[in-house]
This record gives sequence, structure tokens and C-alpha cells, in this order.
Amino acid sequence: MKNKIPGDIFVISAPSGTGKTTLTHLLLSCFPSLNFSISYTTRPPRPGEKDGVDYFFVSRRHFEQMISQGEMLEWAEVYGNYYGTSVRFLREKINAGKDILLDIDVQGARQVRRLFPQAVLIFIIPPSWEELEKRLKKRATDAPEEVKRRLTAAREEIKAAREFDYIVINESLDQALQELKGIILATKANAKRRWPQVSKLFYE
Ligand code: ADP
Ligand code: 5GP
Repeated sequence: MKNKIPGDIFVISAPSGTGKTTLTHLLLSCFPSLNFSISYTTRPPRPGEKDGVDYFFVSRRHFEQMISQGEMLEWAEVYGNYYGTSVRFLREKINAGKDILLDIDVQGARQVRRLFPQAVLIFIIPPSWEELEKRLKKRATDAPEEVKRRLTAAREEIKAAREFDYIVINESLDQALQELKGIILATKANAKRRWPQVSKLFYE
């Protein structure tokens, strides 16, 4: 078998409503070689969300079975629902040399860092509390109590930003996207990461 250079893992976390999904979609369209890690969740689909595209939507029983069978690389209970990343999906992709983008919460990001210290962790924050509230309400996919719950959780989540490698402030969508693109390009050009490729090109 050909010796593949493993792919990179990019983790994006943000308080709900910050614009992470919007930015993730834009980023994926800019980098066709980037693979989105489709999580499993017990949350019901939002309008427009598709099973097997945005998430794998499963029952609590199914999810708990996956945990007990060791199929989750990481998982967390977020806002009352389970969310988790399949171990098989991630390992298969990076072993095949593919780059992966994970959109997961802070607890999940910590678990990924423990298992893959080389993962690049990016935290996105809103420009203000007021703007975060506005965006959550504008999205209009969650009930008012749910919006309140997500705003309260955001106070704790933002404290974790310091554990990440990069912090992007999503005030202007365009500026935030430029920064994310910059982080990905700089990571790919990092000398230590690129060396195996150089070595292959010139010394094999
Ligand atoms: P998340 O995935 O972080 O929960 P979304 O991507 O669903 O957030 O975005 C929440 C809402 O905020 C959406 O209505 C989206 O269109 C809007 N939004 C995202 N980024 C910006 C921005 N920079 N300026 C204004 N609105 C934004
Ligand atoms: P939402 O319900 O808004 O799609 O997601 C709620 C939260 O769950 C977000 O912070 C999102 O990043 C997180 N999340 C989505 N998938 C996963 C996952 O596989 N693992 C973990 N730990 N969090 C996830």
C-alpha cells in the first residue's frame, strides 16, 4: 500500500447562533478537498436539514448503542441532545490523506485534542451578546426558551476560547471567512506538516 501522508483535522467550535454553520458551508465550498465530518445527533432536523448531509439523525437508543459499542470517537450532551463523531469516519479519512473539518462543541473539541494533539482548534465568537441574541432570534429555528438556554450556555462556552489555537470574531462574514481561509492555508504550508511531502518529492 502507498504510504499516505495523513490528513489534517480542523475543529470549529462556537456558541450556538454565532454563524458557525454559515461559515462552515462557505469554507467547504472554498476548499473542495476539505471533508465535513457528519455528526450523529438525537436532535430533530431543522427545516432544510437533510439526514446524511447535515447530520445522521438517530434515536437516543441508537446513539446509546453506538456509545456502548465504542463507535464514537467523542460525544457530548449539548442542550439536552446527544451529538457525536464516528470513530470510523474520521480515522478512514485522515488515514487516506484527507483533511477533515469538525463542527463540534467545546467538550468534543477537548476530546479530539486529547486523541489528536496535532488537530487545529478554531473558536468563533460573535461580536457582542446583543448580536448573538439577534442572530439566534433571526434564525428562528429554536423556541424562545431554547434561545434563552443557548444564550446562557454561551457565557460559559466563550471562556473556553483561550484553549483553542485561533479565535475568529464573526462580525463581518467576509472578514471571518478570510481569516478561516488564512488559518487553513497557513496550516497546510507549515514546514513540519509539509516536510513529509517535500521528502517524498525530493528524497524518495
Ligand atoms: P451557528 O451554526 O453558529 O448556530 P448559524 O450559521 O446558523 O449559526 O447562524 C445564525 C444566524 O446568524 C443565521 O441566520 C445566519 O444567517 C446569521 N449570521 C451568520 N453570520 C453572520 C454575520 N457575520 N452577520 C450577520 N448575520 C450572520
Ligand atoms: P446544533 O443543534 O445547533 O446543530 O448544534 C449544537 C451544538 O452541538 C453545536 O455547538 C455543535 O458544534 C455541537 N455538535 C455538533 N455535532 C457534534 C459532535 O459530533 N460532537 C460534539 N461534541 N458536539 C457536536
